[in-house]
Amino acid sequence: MKIAKFNVRCYACWKQFLIPALSDFSYGEFLFVNYKTREFRYFYRIENTEVERIIMEKLNSDANLERKNDYTEGDTALKLIGKLSDGEFEPIFSNVKCPRCKIGFHSFPKNKGEITNIAELTFEESKKKTLNENIKELKL
Ligand SMILES: [Zn+2]
Repeated sequence: MKIAKFNVRCYACWKQFLIPALSDFSYGEFLFVNYKTREFRYFYRIENTEVERIIMEKLNSDANLERKNDYTEGDTALKLIGKLSDGEFEPIFSNVKCPRCKIGFHSFPKNKGEITNIAELTFEESKKKTLNENIKELKL
């Protein structure tokens, strides 16, 4: 998936860095980040029916998570998708944490820069497990 990177400036330490950003029209598409490696991943929810099934079953099996998900309008489901994926990925909601001070509070993305190729989130580990094992082991 080709995604444009944009310049942002950290409001805490003023470091300038690049973040990938989806267009406003990207319905059902999400970006994830691994803060240990600063790798970004792309996820298209509508195409991943097996992942969606695990997440929905997990939410149905846990009243607390389900309530939280309603309240946050999908944030909880996306966090669960990050946990289910290979590696330590978490969803990006609006801000990406600064590589220097680790605070996620930066300027609005501007000055479109390089186009970068971002791989999709993978779920190889979860594919080896049954639905029940995935539901049991999946935790926030
Ligand atoms: Zn900073």
